[in-house]
Amino acid sequence: MKELMPLEEALRIVLENVKPLGTERVHIYQALGRFLAEEVRADTDKPLFDNSAMDGYALRFEDIEGASEENPVSLKVIGEVSAGESFDGKVEKGTAVKIFTGAPIPAGADTVVPVEYTELKGEEVLIKRAFPKGANVRLRGEDLKEGDIVLEKGKEIRPYEVGMLASVNRVFVEVFRRPRVALLSTGDELLDLGEPQTKPSQIRSSNHHMLYALAQRAGAQPFQLGIAKDDPEELLEVLKTCVDYDIFITTGGVSMGEKDYVQYLVKEVGVEVKFHKLRIKPAKPVLFGTYGKNKLFFGLPGNPVSCGVAFDLLVYPAIRTMLGAKEVFKKKIKALLLKDFKRRDAKRREFARAKVFYEDGTYLCEPLEKQQSHMLTTLTDADGYMIVKEGVDFLKKGETVEVILF
Ligand code: AMP
Ligand code: MG
Repeated sequence: MKELMPLEEALRIVLENVKPLGTERVHIYQALGRFLAEEVRADTDKPLFDNSAMDGYALRFEDIEGASEENPVSLKVIGEVSAGESFDGKVEKGTAVKIFTGAPIPAGADTVVPVEYTELKGEEVLIKRAFPKGANVRLRGEDLKEGDIVLEKGKEIRPYEVGMLASVNRVFVEVFRRPRVALLSTGDELLDLGEPQTKPSQIRSSNHHMLYALAQRAGAQPFQLGIAKDDPEELLEVLKTCVDYDIFITTGGVSMGEKDYVQYLVKEVGVEVKFHKLRIKPAKPVLFGTYGKNKLFFGLPGNPVSCGVAFDLLVYPAIRTMLGAKEVFKKKIKALLLKDFKRRDAKRREFARAKVFYEDGTYLCEPLEKQQSHMLTTLTDADGYMIVKEGVDFLKKGETVEVILF
């Protein structure tokens, strides 16, 4: 029998067939989770003018040298300035201006004393503590100078970056396009949401909905194609629409069963199959091919857990690459194994579903008791995949294991 392909080789094949998609200009509200295709620069100095970091009094630091609770310094209050306004006069020796956070520092002043160290007495203010020159003043350009790069090309846009884009007055921004991902479940036994059960042998399909959410969370634009029967003609019609998408994903029908047509039909729509079946558990019968111009086809197994694992291991990095991400894999951690893990067949690399805890600076990993690939609970109860290498049939409690987090 032919040796099954190891995961590394499969990943290498997938990644050598995928590259970032073209770019598009989107509103900053549509930019979340995307990757910048341009570098963004500061439109002005930030801050644009010297301003107060506190509510208090703007004054000359020389005037309050030596001031203390017992020996307060008295200054004449000559006016006030709030955020968004400015003070026309000048702070001369022996005077102060009442100031609010964010308001411009008046001419002549160099220091702000917070209101809690002062006491207003009529037109005079008592200053009860000395401050060094420049205290509580935010200087022009101390964060950024006009023209500084604020966001590098390739940076992921998180909510903080949306804030930064707004602060440099950007409404639209150039990002990599999201891959269009088609999702299709196949199988005569499948019922879609709300469809009545007319035979006990029917099962409720979860795969194409789980994949919708997985694709969405990965940053792709999912397209729901629903369910196709195990009927070559019907399947072929749907598969022909693959030209409309960057990635086409089917589930089911890629194993050894007589009705597993997907592997044959994809060739008829121009898919060049690069691999079929990997040395992994679950998700052994996974098919990958390319078609058109840099488009990817994934035939994922029908078992829901296998389907999820195959997506996380193979489809996720492809989507992230298309999006322009630098880090395309899911986060991996080292954790202490909380109980022995045994398995009978050690030929394949296993991705055992596990709970992960974080305690006193250490990750702890507890593989679930049930590990069968038709049990969706093994995904919903888990936080990640514990990696069990080829050839390993036993892991001892207390060993360090690697876990891929969901
Ligand atoms: P297959 O790969 O088509 O042989 O399917 C393997 C197993 O997964 C069978 O028990 C199917 O009933 C089940 N299955 C296939 N497709 C789905 C789906 N979309 N949702 C849930 N289970 C499925
Ligand atoms: Mg099937």
